[in-house]
Amino acid sequence: MNNNLNAEIVLAEPRGFCAGVDRAIEIVERALNKFGAPIYVRHEIVHNTYVVNDLKAKGAIFIEELSDVPPGSTLVFSAHGVSKAVQQEALSRGFHIFDATCPLVSKVHIEVAKLQKEGYEFIMIGHKGHPEVEGTMGQVTGGIHLVESVSDVARVQPSQSEKLALVTQTTLSMDDAADITAAVIARFPNVRSPKQKDICYATQNRQDAVKLLSPQVDIVIVVGSPTSSNSNRLREVAQKLGTESYMVDSADELQALWFEGKSRVGLTAGASAPEILVQQVIERIKALGAVSIRKLDGVQETVKFPMPKGLKMEP
Ligand code: SF4
Repeated sequence: MNNNLNAEIVLAEPRGFCAGVDRAIEIVERALNKFGAPIYVRHEIVHNTYVVNDLKAKGAIFIEELSDVPPGSTLVFSAHGVSKAVQQEALSRGFHIFDATCPLVSKVHIEVAKLQKEGYEFIMIGHKGHPEVEGTMGQVTGGIHLVESVSDVARVQPSQSEKLALVTQTTLSMDDAADITAAVIARFPNVRSPKQKDICYATQNRQDAVKLLSPQVDIVIVVGSPTSSNSNRLREVAQKLGTESYMVDSADELQALWFEGKSRVGLTAGASAPEILVQQVIERIKALGAVSIRKLDGVQETVKFPMPKGLKMEP
């Protein structure tokens, strides 16, 4: 790219923060303002290194085990949600709890709990070990079977197939989820699909934007942390479309070598990556030779979720 005066940066739209991430961060910030430091947060509030470090600097303490939280503390559950067991343990330890679980994840939890009461078992499409998957599977004490790929579908063994429901992690690849869903339906034709699809609007919009972006550029840079499911999926979407793509946690990770001979650089960010990081990446790419920025048209997102009780603004 060096010395190529025509090199441009093409920005995907929408990109970056979704309503669930915005809300989760605001919950921690408001809790810090209202109750003072420290505020304990179970797991990374959202999967982004910059966000977590920023909140740590303001007085948040991130923990995995509730036994690490002193009695009487204020505790926030992360945007990914928690299992019933974690919820109950937190209650029994007497913490002052604020739940930053994204309402779109909570919607899945409510559906799972309701259907289990009606006698359903579940096939869950998701990534093993992801906190959202642990939280959703932990809404019930059994009868929920995780599949990560089409080949897993042949191996799954529910105890019956009459009352079987499908549930999906909110941040999956739309295309992969569609393939796995088709395999589940082929094997279990009676399976009940969610009324509203589980993959969230933000995941869908960001993947659609990358599909529009990728064919127009020589390389796609995704701003996101390695732990961020939806950011990883954005990089994969670009790669599957045949466009070289890299995910970076910050501008420092950009390598000059990637841009050699490239004249159009696509840029997007996962739902947990703040715009400040995108701006820093833009500055770095400019320093490497880009001279102009073009923004693609995309869906304008207006979703906003309310604060939990106790953290709403005083009138
Ligand atoms: S990516 Fe989707 S499910 Fe996750 S926090 Fe954002 S809106 Fe909620």
